[in-house]
Amino acid sequence: MTKGYVYLIGAGPGDVRLMTVKGQQCLEKADVVLYDRLVNPLLLETTKPGAELVYCGKLPDRHLLRQEAINDLLVKYALEGKQVVRLKGGDPSVYGRVGEEAAALEEVGVSYEIVPGITAGIGAATYAGVPVTHRDHGASFAVVTGHDKSPTGQPIIDWNGLATGVDTIAFYMGVKNLPYICEQLIEHGRDPKTPVLLVQWGTVGKQKTLTGDLATIAELVQREKFSNPAITLVGEVAKLRTKESWFECQPLFGKHILFGRTTEGPSEIAKELTKLGADVFEYPRFVTREHMDIEVAFHNYDQIIFHSPKSVDWFFAQIRTKRIDIRSLQASFYGASQKSIKAIESFACLGFPVHEMIESNKRLVIGSKNWGKREKKRYELYGEHDFYVSHTDEIIEQSNFTCQRILDENRVDTIVFPSAEAVKVVTEQIEACQETPDSLSKRAEVICFGPETANTANELGYHVQHVLQEPSKLELVDVLKDIVKQSR
Ligand code: SAH
Repeated sequence: MTKGYVYLIGAGPGDVRLMTVKGQQCLEKADVVLYDRLVNPLLLETTKPGAELVYCGKLPDRHLLRQEAINDLLVKYALEGKQVVRLKGGDPSVYGRVGEEAAALEEVGVSYEIVPGITAGIGAATYAGVPVTHRDHGASFAVVTGHDKSPTGQPIIDWNGLATGVDTIAFYMGVKNLPYICEQLIEHGRDPKTPVLLVQWGTVGKQKTLTGDLATIAELVQREKFSNPAITLVGEVAKLRTKESWFECQPLFGKHILFGRTTEGPSEIAKELTKLGADVFEYPRFVTREHMDIEVAFHNYDQIIFHSPKSVDWFFAQIRTKRIDIRSLQASFYGASQKSIKAIESFACLGFPVHEMIESNKRLVIGSKNWGKREKKRYELYGEHDFYVSHTDEIIEQSNFTCQRILDENRVDTIVFPSAEAVKVVTEQIEACQETPDSLSKRAEVICFGPETANTANELGYHVQHVLQEPSKLELVDVLKDIVKQSR
């Protein structure tokens, strides 16, 4: 049996793109992932199909998985020969108990690696627009816990040294003890007017900030009901905070979008929304399985319609392996979408939109197995034709895990359905998370591309707020920007 291996990885403070390349590569290969509450659940979408996901945070029906139990699990999976990833928020060495886990692994001779991550003290401050050091405002920086194992939970620290010896202090887990922390700092010589900045859920769409000074911040926190997870940054650098940081003024900052998906791979629109600052969860997740070895009779047709770029790739792979010379085919090639046309043209053949087709009784459509099942729709669109299945889009059930976490954390405020098919797929899957179209509509605004999509959504029980005319990226972005403007 191969020996297991454990990677203790920092997931970064929240924004999924803040994880290291090495961490990401390990995560993609992992057989088992044990992840914490502060890990952005969207990272789980990059695990391989079938990977086992173990949540180590608090659940409604049980308490936190104890550290000893986590250590035991790491050892158990590693001894089973698995590639194990232990994924922690921020950096694993900063209040991440990585030392205890590494020691447990060493004790039984399991090999491991530690992959650092961006710690919240730096990540959250940066996304709130404040550098932790500055030549004019802060030459030193300390990371301090605001809560420890002492009976009161109040941290036992050299307050004198901290208050007078360090310019910028980032307190972790400090919200509850904030009155005590401020009191101690002032008592030990720090100016009560020292600026303080709190950043909650830094680097993600839920990011919130609060500013004050050592004398006022504790009361403000109470009034605003500010809670963990938050970093408390104390020091002159905190005055560099402006009304909105570079991160918060992105056009779609604060939008949490569930984007309905029907195939593998990211959608161009979803990518654009992410670029504009939205948190986007494409759901559900698919893996494509190509169909092999069919009896090809491509020569019999004078028109071939490709229903998706995957079908184009499959077709060209077929003619290559079957040693068919492309010049011997008489057919013209049509794409059902711009993407399919682009895919055809990437093989140096001309591709045309389907509305340019002329009458023919030798027409072939190539598409996914799902599309194959939708005979009525196909005949409506293309008339008489033959059909080949190029591939199957299989749902990866583990994306329901991600979905559950996202919903538990209230991280969906908008649902975008790009097609009627997407409405059906999402509705079927969402049942696993004990949600219905009605309950989802109460959480989120529903946006549909085209009247057919909206009809399907309404029929299934969604309350559709916006119907866009076409699958248009620009129109969607405009609608979302309007929603953001109204809420700011
Ligand atoms: N290993 C983590 C820290 C874990 S301790 C790291 O390096 O960041 C948990 C504390 O980290 C929280 O109570 C909070 O103070 C802080 N924290 C983690 N993620 C955060 C985030 N996205 N925004 C603000 N604070 C965060």
